[in-house]
Amino acid sequence: MDCDLTDKTALISGSGRGMGRASAEELARNGADVVVNDVDEAVAEETAADVRDLGVDAIGVPADVSDGAEVAAMVETAVDELGPIDILVNNAGVGDSGPFLDGEYDETFELNLDVHLHGALNCTREVVDGMVEQQYGKIINFTSIHTKNGVGMSPAYDVAKYSLLGLTKSLALELGREGIRVNAVAPGWANTRLTEGFSDAVTEQILDNNPLGRFAEPEEVADAVAFLAAPASDYINGHELRVDGGQVPIDSWRLDS
Ligand code: ADP
Repeated sequence: MDCDLTDKTALISGSGRGMGRASAEELARNGADVVVNDVDEAVAEETAADVRDLGVDAIGVPADVSDGAEVAAMVETAVDELGPIDILVNNAGVGDSGPFLDGEYDETFELNLDVHLHGALNCTREVVDGMVEQQYGKIINFTSIHTKNGVGMSPAYDVAKYSLLGLTKSLALELGREGIRVNAVAPGWANTRLTEGFSDAVTEQILDNNPLGRFAEPEEVADAVAFLAAPASDYINGHELRVDGGQVPIDSWRLDS
């Protein structure tokens, strides 16, 4: 299976931590040069330094993906330093959402759509011309267990991730004609900051509904990203690849967290 990414440049949003960081490292292990973006400059720089230790070129570029001007400046810097972007991973995300009946949905909807949907749109817009020019590109959007059947008590996050799935499906149809594959990776719950904060009761509730009985390691999600970034998956387009151990979505995980 050809997973060689030598001579490719990947930009991964929100890759200072968690699954984005693991993805940056995995793409680098397969030979890609990496642009490590994060809104948090310190973690972007730290991850980029660790990625360089894997033997590829990497730069940390802080930017808030929901801000179009910041994204444009980030991509300009990235292309100047590492060349055209061949692989874009739209991973930057926020976990902030809450029950509809709490009544704070205006703010949480705005935040979730800003980061997940508009963030992905901003990054895609800035890299797509270069991909069209070379008639090759890979765009990988991070959806979620939330696009399996919704996950209760978090409508803003559900809606934002479903909208990103819609963008994935739609752009796969349009951009496929330009040699650009657009796919999604849908992680379940993984060992990240989010799950570290769960109470024992919530953890138990989730794992009772997971056939494998454990959270994912970020590296297991990164393997799926690397596959979708690689030549080995060149005929896969418009697909959502679930990496959730067969997790059954649950509807009350926020109630007792
Ligand atoms: P996950 O569980 O999805 O891996 P993390 O919280 O560990 O989540 O990582 C998400 C990353 O996305 C964080 O490092 C965070 O700083 C980053 N991030 C969040 N919002 C933005 C944004 N607007 N622009 C760029 N990066 C962001």
